Amino acid sequence: MLQKVLIANRGEIALRITRACKTLGIKTVGIYSDADKDLMHLRFVDEAVCIGPGASSESYLNIPAIITAAEITGADAIHPGYGFLSENAEFAEIVESSGFIFIGPRPEHIRLMGNKVSAIMAMRKAGVPTVPGSAHAVTTNNALAEAKEIGFPLIVKAASGGGGRGMRIVERVDTLLESVQAAQRDAEMWFGDDTVYMERFLQKPRHVEVQVIGDGNGHAVHLYDRDCSLQRRHQKVLEEAPAPNLPEDARAEILEACVKACELMQYRGAGTFEFLFEEGEFFFIEMNTRVQVEHPVTEMVTGIDIIEQQLRVAAGLGLDLKQEDIKVQGHAIECRINAEDPSNFMPSPGKIEQFYTPGGAGIRLDSHIYPGYNIPPYYDSMIAKLISHGKNRETAIARMKQALDEIILTGVKTNIPLHKDLILEDKNFCERAMDIHYLENHLLKQLQGNETKA
Ligand code: ADP
Repeated sequence: MLQKVLIANRGEIALRITRACKTLGIKTVGIYSDADKDLMHLRFVDEAVCIGPGASSESYLNIPAIITAAEITGADAIHPGYGFLSENAEFAEIVESSGFIFIGPRPEHIRLMGNKVSAIMAMRKAGVPTVPGSAHAVTTNNALAEAKEIGFPLIVKAASGGGGRGMRIVERVDTLLESVQAAQRDAEMWFGDDTVYMERFLQKPRHVEVQVIGDGNGHAVHLYDRDCSLQRRHQKVLEEAPAPNLPEDARAEILEACVKACELMQYRGAGTFEFLFEEGEFFFIEMNTRVQVEHPVTEMVTGIDIIEQQLRVAAGLGLDLKQEDIKVQGHAIECRINAEDPSNFMPSPGKIEQFYTPGGAGIRLDSHIYPGYNIPPYYDSMIAKLISHGKNRETAIARMKQALDEIILTGVKTNIPLHKDLILEDKNFCERAMDIHYLENHLLKQLQGNETKA
């Protein structure tokens, strides 16, 4: 097994990785910025190294500082978590060429999937269904011809995109060229690469994704699926596993296609294939080459510790999982709890005053916050993930409601009311799975309507 892992991240995922390492007897190194010396996991790691000032660009994205921290502490491997450098192929390369194990896929696969155009081409070759559209770059020269093939509405997306940024929906041909140019400008600004491509805009799809783990030598398994359709500005708000109401034949087919694609690539480590699912059909949109925020819902229904599997694969121990032994038990839901003003979604950093954590059967809380902890303004506003598990979706919902009622969190504003009063009380949510526009176009509008009336 690995001897000492440096955790190149912060917050709840740094704590999650620390826990996984400690239970496996692996030593841990935490890194932190000047603004983060009070992070919870730093109390549990074996060593902690300050790597720079609060701004991410000078700390959690500072590759030389991270490599130096690994060198001085004698770590043998680096876990990137999610976000920050986790999908940076150059970082993975530098980690490996500096003599450390990168706990993640081979750099070539991070690079392949980091560019959505090359990812789509690879998926088409591997037999994974993709959205009808241009699996190559679009410019103002070829946009018109491409659009004729795809039809309207279509969506212009950045090849190097992420975080739901810079996508443009085009309804009519007369706004096509200006949208392509605007998308190119956005892409250049956000991602330093102005390559854009177009695909059919699906009107009412669900977001369904498949969790996979490969051993890097051509053997891979899937850990079933998740539904992450409840999104705001393309950011997930609530996730669940398994995806409700999927036709079993379509599910079986897509799970098998994902495993085959991984085996073909000799994919190493954990990964997620993201799909839009509409009218019985799956369309690949991207692959995330890292552990996902929402991995706990899969852990709850399969009983498999995904971080442990990542560590095993990185250590060259292979997978200790056989596909036929992996079963789904019951249903799990995750609510992302963000420090933000529920009325306008603006971040609400500051000091946590009271924090009472809910518990009981089927409840899990992944969080790094505690009373007196000061949420710094520099990073993502997610402060906790509340996960519920039950024998079926109904029980998972009931347990989640109870847990949200129990939680006491004061000092900062949070989106708990959004989960508690809006989503989990919604009849449609309780009865069936929603499409990706449901939260914004229906639930949040309902909220605004109520506020206007009041
Ligand atoms: P990012 O990497 O920026 O998150 P994705 O390609 O994963 O971008 O898309 C993010 C979200 O944008 C999807 O979950 C979905 O809500 C929406 N989206 C992306 N492509 C399409 C499409 N072709 N039709 C409709 N919605 C889309």
